[in-house]
Amino acid sequence: MSKILIVGGGFAGVWSAASAAKLRGECGVVDSELEIVVVSAGDDLVIRPRLYESEPHNKRVPLDSILGPIGVRRVPATVTDIDTDARSVTTVGRDGRSAVTAYDQLILASGSQVVMPNIAGAEYLFDVDTLAGAARLDSHLHRLPHESVSTGQYTIVVVGAGFTGLEIATELTQRVREIADDQAVVRVVLVERERQVGLELGSGPHPAISAALSDLGIEVLLNVSVDSVRPHGLTLSDGTEIDARTVVWTAGMTASPLTKFIPAERDWLGRLSVDEYLRVCDVGDVYAAGDTAAAVATHGRTVMQSCQYAVPLGKFAGHNAAADLLGEPLVAFSPDEYQTCLALGAAGAVVTTGWDRTVVMTGSAGQHLKVTINTEWIYPPADDKESLLASAGPNGALPEYIPPVPAP
Ligand SMILES: Cc1cc2nc3c(=O)[nH]c(=O)nc-3n(C[C@H](O)[C@H](O)[C@H](O)COP(=O)(O)OP(=O)(O)OC[C@H]3O[C@@H](n4cnc5c(N)ncnc54)[C@H](O)[C@@H]3O)c2cc1C
Repeated sequence: MSKILIVGGGFAGVWSAASAAKLRGECGVVDSELEIVVVSAGDDLVIRPRLYESEPHNKRVPLDSILGPIGVRRVPATVTDIDTDARSVTTVGRDGRSAVTAYDQLILASGSQVVMPNIAGAEYLFDVDTLAGAARLDSHLHRLPHESVSTGQYTIVVVGAGFTGLEIATELTQRVREIADDQAVVRVVLVERERQVGLELGSGPHPAISAALSDLGIEVLLNVSVDSVRPHGLTLSDGTEIDARTVVWTAGMTASPLTKFIPAERDWLGRLSVDEYLRVCDVGDVYAAGDTAAAVATHGRTVMQSCQYAVPLGKFAGHNAAADLLGEPLVAFSPDEYQTCLALGAAGAVVTTGWDRTVVMTGSAGQHLKVTINTEWIYPPADDKESLLASAGPNGALPEYIPPVPAP
């Protein structure tokens, strides 16, 4: 009997599992001959791309509804160590017990996390990186009307104007307005240490982003960072003090710390170098998928830490890990063209295609696409073995991500 051990029940982890299970079935191998196991700290697939939205506690799908029908075993535990020489991982279960599990092929799909700053008052910061973080912010926002009136009661400062910062800042103008008392002044301030918002998104979508921020009345402070945070405010690096009950930190991402247990090269985001088949370079029997993998995408560019890449990375890694054990040919990673769809709250969304980020859609058309992606396309089929396996594997059918619409 052989075992594929997948660490992580995110997008990369579930698609790895489904793709390995698909090849196992196609080869006529029974589940007990090739065991596929997903070890994940939580019980759900957390729909991280939706954590900027309201009601974040609903943005999840039980892992058992995805993995159960395809004969993949789930172990609810936290991985604390990986020994690539012994080919084993150490886990701590919910009962606090430690266990060591051997693998024949390991797929590291443990994702990424926001890097919280080492500043005074960091404990007062909120985030939308995890379901728990997003739920904590949501509860806090709903408590604001019950606090005694103070300056900054409805002032929200979002730190970092990258993809996540822009989505949460633009969303919060409306969300907080709906929560606040009618007469209250709602203020959203976006703080960015670079000279421009959305620098990582390129120049293409910049006009649409700037117009959205201006239309929504979001104050933008550039070339500054945060020095310290207090329960009712913060101080910026230029000495500016802002009264604010809510400070949301979104700046800086890093790959899962589990990547450090793999003796291989890592990039500036902590991601493991992988070959064209997503095998971690110079380490036997280990694949990386999703936000832990620095894989080459189209045009020689490295994948972005995104759901858009986590899904195909999972599909290829799962297929290849199973192919390795079943003596089938490996398939080189070949994702679709790079695309982005950035939500801008009531101002709609901006959609780009290609690495030069050509804008193909804005406003309500973009918003319609974003809603379709967020409510339909990113959800793996649950309780539906046939549909899940049809979408799995390197050639698994996925809905067309962006219809070919000419730029407005
Ligand atoms: C607010 C927000 C908005 C986003 N918007 C978009 C967007 O519009 N488009 C887009 O493409 N991407 C977006 N992203 C990024 C996207 O969510 C991630 O790139 C994607 O979730 C990565 O998938 P993954 O499977 O690699 O990791 P994750 O989804 O992070 O899953 C990692 C899994 O590993 C598990 N795990 C981690 N450590 C351990 C451990 N030690 N032991 C056991 N299990 C462990 C976790 O519990 C989890 O199940 C957004 C992210 C956020 C936070």
